[in-house]
Amino acid sequence: MSEVWKYSLKQSTSFAKCQICKEEVPRRGHTTNLMVHLKKHPNKEKALENVLRHQESVPVAGRSACSIKTQKSLEHFLKETEVWADHGTKTNEIDDAIAFMVIRDYQPVSIVEDEGFVNLLKLLAPKYRIPQRRVITRIIGEKYEKVAKKTKDAIVIWE
Ligand SMILES: [Zn+2]
Repeated sequence: MSEVWKYSLKQSTSFAKCQICKEEVPRRGHTTNLMVHLKKHPNKEKALENVLRHQESVPVAGRSACSIKTQKSLEHFLKETEVWADHGTKTNEIDDAIAFMVIRDYQPVSIVEDEGFVNLLKLLAPKYRIPQRRVITRIIGEKYEKVAKKTKDAIVIWE
């Protein structure tokens, strides 16, 4: 029996499920794809151990099941924040959201320097680098240029 079955569950002749990441790998009767897939998990021995340990403790009601849930969402959150580093698209999205907030809620651009706001952002997106005022001002300028022809509303930016 191939070693790959230690890490995979046979679902059917065409699919097998990776025990580590739960991804369904097309196998078409052979194990080559599975072997290729398992290369994605350099520490597969350890990863499987962790997965199995979690599975064992899941049926236990109460505290342990709850902490697993918390840890899962924490892992998910950390993964999410990876893409917020530097010039990721999330960074641009947050920049845009701040610019939107400044306009929509009549906030001063200097909010990016406010302690409470900075604190909140750090908590939500630890890897996100809070932009300087002029960045937000520039984004607002760009947005305004785009809609200026369509609207007569004046936008006032408080520095
Ligand atoms: Zn996998």
